[in-house]
This record gives sequence, structure tokens and C-alpha cells, in this order.
Amino acid sequence: MQLTRLIYASTISDELSVEEIKSIVKAARQGNPASGLTGLLYFNRRYFLQCLEGARTEVNDTFHRIQKDKRHKNIVILEYNEITERIFPDWSMGYLPESNTTQTVYMRFANNPIFNPYLMRGKSALGLVKALKETLSTK
Ligand code: FAD
Repeated sequence: MQLTRLIYASTISDELSVEEIKSIVKAARQGNPASGLTGLLYFNRRYFLQCLEGARTEVNDTFHRIQKDKRHKNIVILEYNEITERIFPDWSMGYLPESNTTQTVYMRFANNPIFNPYLMRGKSALGLVKALKETLSTK
């Protein structure tokens, strides 16, 4: 098995209300354990940043489904790599909405104060994902 990590950015579509995000997180948490997928979904009411990790086939299959999902658009892969260990071994899909705390974390990896994953380098996106995990872990 090739353990793989994929991080992408996307934009909420006009069809999706912020309240419906919960249904996406629920679907991810229901579906991901069977596929052995873990990860994080970060959201600031406009943009998504998601990290998916697991077997390469499962990461790709799930990402292809996610790409077809009309609830978001402008999907851009920021980072894709083979990995030796997971960042989120115990989380089927951690969910973190933006807050003052996450905003402070974001500022460590970006020059602009308003979260915009499309402006991030892959390395910065990865750094942010790891730092957000620490934020969630200490909540
Ligand atoms: P079906 O359930 O058959 O749905 C087909 C299409 O209908 C979907 O692509 C979607 O466009 C639409 N749809 C489904 N449910 C709803 C709903 N409640 N409201 C409106 N439209 C809907 N899935 C995972 O398994 N793991 C993940 O980690 C994951 N992360 C996601 C992150 C984001 C930002 C988004 C937008 C979606 C995510 N999903 C995730 C959901 C994924 O896109 C698929 O909807 C899901 O995997 C079910 O796939 P399916 O082919 O069985 O679709």
C-alpha cells in the first residue's frame, strides 16, 4: 500500500449554505473509516482546505468523488505526496471552522491576514494543516 496525502483548496458554491457544512462533515466521517481515510477539513465560510490521507487508491477515488461535488468549486490541489506516516491517524475527518485562534495560526504561514488557500504554497499548506491539528488537539 502506498500511503498518500493530498491537500486541496476549494470554494463554497452558491448552492451550499454554511449550515449545510455539517452534512458534508457527517458524510465524510461516515464514509472515510471504510476507506481507511483520515484527515482534516478547514473552512472559513468561503474557502475549504482539506487534507486527505490513506491508501493511494482510496485517496484518489474519494478525491474524484469530491471533485464532482457541486457543493464546492475551483478545486485546486496544493500538495500531493507519498508519506510514511499520517498526521491524523485517529481522525476520520477532523473539522475546524475559522476562529480567532486559527486565524493567528494561519498568519504564521501567510502574508495576508484573510485566509486564502489559493495563495499558499504546498509547503505552507502542509505546515498550516499540521499546526491546525495542534489547535484541535489542545481544544
Ligand atoms: P452521492 O451521495 O451519491 O451524491 C452524489 C452527488 O450529490 C454528490 O457528489 C453531491 O454533489 C450531491 N450531494 C450528496 N449529498 C448531498 C447533500 N446532502 N446535499 C446536497 N448535495 C448532495 N466524502 C467522503 O467520503 N470523504 C470526505 O472526506 C469528503 N470530504 C468532502 C469535502 C468537501 C469540501 C465536500 C464538498 C464534499 C466532501 N465529501 C467527502 C462528499 C463527497 O463529495 C461525496 O458527496 C460523498 O463521498 C458521497 O459520494 P457519492 O458518489 O456516493 O455521492
